[in-house]
Amino acid sequence: MPETIFTKILSGTIPAHKVHEDHHTFAFLDINPLSPGHTLLIPKVPVAKLHELSDEAAAALGRVLPRLCRAIVHATGIPDYNILQNNGSPAHQAVFHVHIHIIPKPNATQGLNIHWPASPLDPALAKSLVTKITTALRE
Ligand code: 5GP
Repeated sequence: MPETIFTKILSGTIPAHKVHEDHHTFAFLDINPLSPGHTLLIPKVPVAKLHELSDEAAAALGRVLPRLCRAIVHATGIPDYNILQNNGSPAHQAVFHVHIHIIPKPNATQGLNIHWPASPLDPALAKSLVTKITTALRE
């Protein structure tokens, strides 16, 4: 796993505005926030994508995430927010160390703005996907 800007933040080589640290996780303010309070939560293990995490590392992120959201809501006074987690360049991942964005949504313009080009689920595709995903989950 090559070094990233986030491994450098974890090792203290690069400074960051830390808001949380425990045995498995670390959180700090995003350097280019979409809104005040935009925070990144990362695992200490340096893997690029979410599905590469162990159950233990994933559970550690899940355990702290709602508590961190509560603290950000409290600190900013903004009750609404988005959780964003990008995996791979086409999915807008720029730093290849798993990170979860917590992005306060104070109004229509600030925070995350989402383009959501949805279309109805195709029944045949749905059936095939359910079979493949449930099979993969058992492996
Ligand atoms: P991604 O597009 O990979 O999901 O998001 C990466 C995020 O990391 C971006 O929001 C970017 O502003 C943030 N970021 C990149 N470099 C640094 C840095 O050196 N320090 C901090 N605090 N955030 C960074």
